[in-house]
Amino acid sequence: MPAVLVTGGSRGIGAAVARLAATRGYDVCINYMSNVEAAEEVVAAVEAEGRKGCAIHADVANPIQVEQLFEQASSALGPITGLVNSAGLTGPAGTLSETTVAAIERVINVNVLGTILCSREALRWMARSAGGEGGAIVNLSSVAAEIGSPGEFVWYAATKGAVDSFTIGLAREVGDDGVRVNAVAPGIIETDIHETAGKPDRAKQMAPAIPMHRPGGAEEVAEPIVWLLSEAASYVTGAVIRVSGGR
Ligand code: NAP
Repeated sequence: MPAVLVTGGSRGIGAAVARLAATRGYDVCINYMSNVEAAEEVVAAVEAEGRKGCAIHADVANPIQVEQLFEQASSALGPITGLVNSAGLTGPAGTLSETTVAAIERVINVNVLGTILCSREALRWMARSAGGEGGAIVNLSSVAAEIGSPGEFVWYAATKGAVDSFTIGLAREVGDDGVRVNAVAPGIIETDIHETAGKPDRAKQMAPAIPMHRPGGAEEVAEPIVWLLSEAASYVTGAVIRVSGGR
């Protein structure tokens, strides 16, 4: 069975990817940071589809924990052939001047370093040159990479610009090594991320500014992600696909 590892799979977009991947025949390991209960619910949903599931705690910004994450996921599911880098955060919303260095550093470490470390580790398992069976990596970017998120979280937007560059570069680097690397750039999606940023009503308030006049659902982002993981996307690599209701 194909096996996928979803970082930040306990909630939001990552959880929706895990649930959908299970319905499409994948065994799924999710990673989480602190919300054990949410993680266990997602594993139960995966197993209810008759697939193998597991949940592993790891901070994606910690290289040792990332190494252990892949070892544990592979021993639970067998060779990992799909990685979705969904773990991410914005930090508290505000202007750059009023935001602490510690908050900015954490967002950069989780969103950029975390994505890079997990992808690096994935290659050690997936790349044909390393003895792997090949695979696919999907990164979570954001339309913030292009609009810059002024007054809200410009540092977060910058991390997603970095994710885009990384996606394009790595796709070209491993193009003939059996690994495809793509990104999905969501617009405003209804998840906990807005409340964590201190703006619980942000998704609804932003609706008039979205051409489709509504925020997206996590399931609507999960669809293209699971497609990018699949053989149906066999000639797609280095792409950044907007899923934003036109924003
Ligand atoms: P969310 O609902 O807030 O969920 C965040 C997930 O990341 C949780 O599973 C959380 O685990 C995990 N996480 C946070 N820090 C972590 C760390 N250091 N190590 C491992 N896991 C960690 O977020 P979301 O809205 O689904 O966002 C998912 C991705 O999509 C992010 O990269 C985000 O930037 C991107 N995105 C979201 C939107 C949007 O509007 N929602 C728009 C564009 C892009 P716990 O449950 O244990 O806390």
